[in-house]
Amino acid sequence: MNTVTLIPGDGIGPEVSSAVVEVLKAAGVNIEWEKINGGEDAYKATGAFIPEALLESISTNRIAFKGPITTPIGKGFKSINVTLRQKYNTYANVRPVKSFPGLNTPFKNVDLVIVRENTEDLYAGLEHMVTEGVAESIKIITEKASLRIGEFAFQYAKDNNRKKVTAVHKANIMKISDGLFLDCIRRVAAKYPEIAYEEVIVDNMCMQLVMYPEKYDVLVLPNLYGDIVSDLAAGLVGGLGLVPGANIGDDIAIFEAVHGSAPDIAGKNLANPTACILSAAMLLDYIKQKEAAENIRQAVFSVIKEGKYLTRDLGGTATTEAYTRAVCDYLSK
Ligand code: ATP
Repeated sequence: MNTVTLIPGDGIGPEVSSAVVEVLKAAGVNIEWEKINGGEDAYKATGAFIPEALLESISTNRIAFKGPITTPIGKGFKSINVTLRQKYNTYANVRPVKSFPGLNTPFKNVDLVIVRENTEDLYAGLEHMVTEGVAESIKIITEKASLRIGEFAFQYAKDNNRKKVTAVHKANIMKISDGLFLDCIRRVAAKYPEIAYEEVIVDNMCMQLVMYPEKYDVLVLPNLYGDIVSDLAAGLVGGLGLVPGANIGDDIAIFEAVHGSAPDIAGKNLANPTACILSAAMLLDYIKQKEAAENIRQAVFSVIKEGKYLTRDLGGTATTEAYTRAVCDYLSK
């Protein structure tokens, strides 16, 4: 039996996290949840955004499911998400983006995987005022992290029978930093001749994705471009409520949806829990409970295809709970 740290999160986090627990229960999954919150609720209860007990739990269990956590805007608050990724060195952020049969979106054949570097770039948090009226933010790109994410992307492509890796960059302008990233990815690409390799500049990538998304397979990107392109790609298949994600390190993984805490719909039973449920399916793949993972994906795809219980973001009227029940019912059939 695997013990998994469960961080419900802020905003819609508790609602979508309960959906995850229910769906995994209905799928008969053998997991013991260790529930410890981080974020604003944790701050109110313990005075810490990331309580010591949470860090200990993740360090011990090495697997966590995390609902979205709000980072307070303003000086002095480092993003909790970024802090966890850096602390546990979960250097690869993997986000599969796939069309849902039956959903009315402009594209039907999207099937790509975003592999985003997760530990450096402009997320290093090195910002300061140079002088009054002048702020500086430092972009860090290292050979070590770029080779590591390149290796992850190509190995992922190989393991998952993918055909092509596209490196996304802006090395025409940031010749040294993005130039180093690209140079590292090229070096890795040379070791995988069976996988096609191409490079696309990030602005062109955005245009290509909204015109010909079916042309892309695995994308490998530095941290900031990866964040932006992920939301764009989510939009191609029906929005942020649908796209799952995993933060993976060498012997540790934290699973979370691409979306944030959506404060505008929090507490209203309106959130779409699909992204979190599919993130949990990725968790099950990771702990080798592949049959349960596949059953859950099948249930989600079927309920969405049937179209009777769609949440509001997908044009339906179902509540979070009603949709979750429909997925659980499908699993119990
Ligand atoms: P963050 O900065 O924390 O990543 P964000 O800026 O990406 O957050 P979100 O909190 O993800 O913002 O929300 C963006 C929009 O998408 C909001 O209008 C929100 O209601 C909607 N949204 C996000 N997640 C969901 C969901 N699971 N179900 C329905 N709508 C969602």
